[in-house]
Amino acid sequence: MSPTATAVQPGVAVHPGQPNSLHVTEIPRQAPGPGEVRIRIRHVGVCGTDREIIHGGFGAAPEDEASLVIGHEMLGEIDAVGAGVVAFTPGQLVTATVRRPDGCPACAAGQPDMCQWLRYAERGIVGMHGFMTEAVVEDARWVVPVPPELSDIGVLIEPISVVEKAVRQAMLVQKRIAAWQPKTAMVLGAGPIGLAGTLLLRSRGMDVVTAARRPGPHLASEIVEAAGARYVGTDETALQALAAELPPLDLIVEATGSSEPVFAAMEILGNNGVLVLLSGTGGNRELTVPADAINRSLIRGNKVVLGCVNSAKEDFELGVTDLTRWEQMWPGLAGRFITRRLSGLGAYEQILETPAGDIKTVVEVR
Ligand SMILES: [Zn+2]
Repeated sequence: MSPTATAVQPGVAVHPGQPNSLHVTEIPRQAPGPGEVRIRIRHVGVCGTDREIIHGGFGAAPEDEASLVIGHEMLGEIDAVGAGVVAFTPGQLVTATVRRPDGCPACAAGQPDMCQWLRYAERGIVGMHGFMTEAVVEDARWVVPVPPELSDIGVLIEPISVVEKAVRQAMLVQKRIAAWQPKTAMVLGAGPIGLAGTLLLRSRGMDVVTAARRPGPHLASEIVEAAGARYVGTDETALQALAAELPPLDLIVEATGSSEPVFAAMEILGNNGVLVLLSGTGGNRELTVPADAINRSLIRGNKVVLGCVNSAKEDFELGVTDLTRWEQMWPGLAGRFITRRLSGLGAYEQILETPAGDIKTVVEVR
């Protein structure tokens, strides 16, 4: 038996499928093998997916294990480097992508974020322990360097990578239209993904309207406005009425967490526009929608509705570049996404609380 496999460390875990099973488990603390690095975890972000896993709606433990260590948004530092790894040195700040490939053609071609078979593993979500522990061993291929100036907010790179992929995909698809010059964008939802989308599209020079249910002013609406976008509460102004007073919407990013705005977004999308859907809705909701009108509008307007999930390593790298740029454009603004910092893995029970106005909770492991 390898001496390095005998050390254990605590990890915040669930029994997948069982509500109220959040607990601390022990997992091995390993040394990195060839091509691997060990990452000392600093910060782990908590998102809606984590809360769904905690509530038993989602998630799968590694094979032959009862517990799944949660956490897929991470900032850490390299603390050991395996044989053959030259790209990383101890002390360097890093994050890592979430999804690991199965053998499908997309994964085999280096695009696990486009997995066809859906038999992938995801850190802290499906079949693989996550980052809410002290250290993880990771294949260096999935590790992304983070500059030291992002040490307080680098944990946001994973959620930012999700909108980086969304916008990158939209731009790729829109190459279909020679004259497409996006000017006006709408972001639906003002959680971490919606806010990151707002900053991303503003930093690309688009006029942005961010709409979420709760009328402002509140922290999220202040962040939107500080980035030079307009915030609208849809409890006060319906999406259709809002769109009627706006220029044509070239791009809509849907990140509300609900399926209902998806269909309104199809109706209000401008001609030749693209709607990117990011809300992984877990329920079984049924809705009555104006099907003919929506279909007619999509057809006549050559509109694209694009589903998008996870993100590629290049989206993490774009996230690092853009977060650095946003800090120059709007110093401190992205840091306002982090509304709560919990100290140490021992504070894990507070993950379950959702204080009013909470945008992003981060567990500071060390
Ligand atoms: Zn695959």
